[in-house]
Amino acid sequence: MSARLGKLRQKLAEKELDAIFISQPENRYYLSGFDGSAGFLLITAQDAILATDFRYLEQAKEQTPEYRIFPIAGDMANWFPELISGLALAKLGFEAGHITLSLYRKLSDIIGKLESPPKLVPLDGLVESLRAVKEPEEIAAIARAAELADRAFEHIEGILQAGMTEKEAAWEIEKFLRESGSQAVPFDIIVASGPNSALPHAKPSPRSIQPGEPVLLDIGARVSGYSSDLSRTICLGAPDDTFKKVYDIVLGAQLTALELIKEGMTGEEADKLARTVIAEAGYEKAFGHSLGHGVGLAAHESPRLGPGTTEPLTSGMVFTIEPGVYLPGWGGVRIEDLVVMENGRAKIISKSRKV
Ligand code: ZN
Repeated sequence: MSARLGKLRQKLAEKELDAIFISQPENRYYLSGFDGSAGFLLITAQDAILATDFRYLEQAKEQTPEYRIFPIAGDMANWFPELISGLALAKLGFEAGHITLSLYRKLSDIIGKLESPPKLVPLDGLVESLRAVKEPEEIAAIARAAELADRAFEHIEGILQAGMTEKEAAWEIEKFLRESGSQAVPFDIIVASGPNSALPHAKPSPRSIQPGEPVLLDIGARVSGYSSDLSRTICLGAPDDTFKKVYDIVLGAQLTALELIKEGMTGEEADKLARTVIAEAGYEKAFGHSLGHGVGLAAHESPRLGPGTTEPLTSGMVFTIEPGVYLPGWGGVRIEDLVVMENGRAKIISKSRKV
């Protein structure tokens, strides 16, 4: 925790901020180790304070030895002035991407009534940018979550048969994951068959899976708070010509990106590698989402690999590479692997077969 706090304090100094008020749950956990479901952090150059209520005081003491625990109760107006009193804050950063408008108004209102009110400074993705670069223990937890997703894919591939519904298959996957040691799944498992697979984020339906059509599976597990994310598209029986053609294009795009992504490239450049392959095959409009996203404490986090992303990919980042082609009425194909940027290249973490 102290290394993470050190990095955060350096960022605060660069931005000439006296403190940051953390309200985003994963950021709170990342910086403190406190996994209770309510509370705020206030970090200054010297202090690290966890403000939480009666329900979590014992847990907070145990989980956050480096923090001073500040008990809170009821309305923020009752405790916020005391929380910051004596800290001599001139500039206080807050998480603009997370805080609600009503909380912001309340905070402004409370601060406005103070004798020497600090200036509220909106911050965007500050802790998220620290979280994007993983430590070895974080990568190890993600790799364990990826292994569970790989095993779940193998399991469902072994038992999937025509007539099984998407919902039944999704539950089989989730049950397998939980019984194999996954925490609650980080996102709803996707099993989408036939035309349903043309929806990139389809919900499993009571539709029976038929032979010869695409079946898109998107599976995530969670280990020690860290997620994995894996997509495969399979076919029961003989695939039709569209499947063979589209699958080859998507696989080609994915392998191209896996091979050519290099450290220092921007998210947009990485995305372009796969997008060009799909565009040259004539399916540019059928690839309507980004190439990938970071994975960690959240299933979707920084970095983003997509058009307009200027953020460079650096060593230690963990992200997905998941091109897809979606044809309304027929279905879709997505192939997604999890990678870690290591020695300048994208090293694959997920191991499920693709051919
Ligand atoms: Zn994904």
